[in-house]
Amino acid sequence: MNTDKVLADWAKAWKEENLTDEQRKLISQANWDLYNGPARDGSFGDPTEDDEEWDSFPGFSKAVDLIKDALDDAPRTLYIDDQSEEVMEREPQVDACEDCNGTGKVEGEDFITKCESCSGSGVGFQPEYYKIERAEILKALVGKELVQYVK
Ligand SMILES: [Zn+2]
Repeated sequence: MNTDKVLADWAKAWKEENLTDEQRKLISQANWDLYNGPARDGSFGDPTEDDEEWDSFPGFSKAVDLIKDALDDAPRTLYIDDQSEEVMEREPQVDACEDCNGTGKVEGEDFITKCESCSGSGVGFQPEYYKIERAEILKALVGKELVQYVK
């Protein structure tokens, strides 16, 4: 599984659902400013000079503050199922071992032994998943350079 790709798709959907057009525009413009800027600093040939899309741009550091606020509600942790590539905000539930009902022990005729199915742990089938930390989530949301300023 390409976790970067899965995470990028998730980030795109999250931004469309949770951010305003203005906030998404700020992320794009802050990225542009970071690579090509500074925007509107009066330099000759600055392509942002006559572009009214940039009229609302508050400058790089203010934009970063606004983006930080906008991303405050973004998940701290994500889990990606290795099989289904489903992205989850909660850690996948681990079922109890079916053979011992999660006790780790089974009753024999006249003695209790360790459950062989789960080696006594009581834990059943465990889904394989990747845990994605906040820094990776933010990187997917704003880009790998801009995240240095946003985290
Ligand atoms: Zn068991």
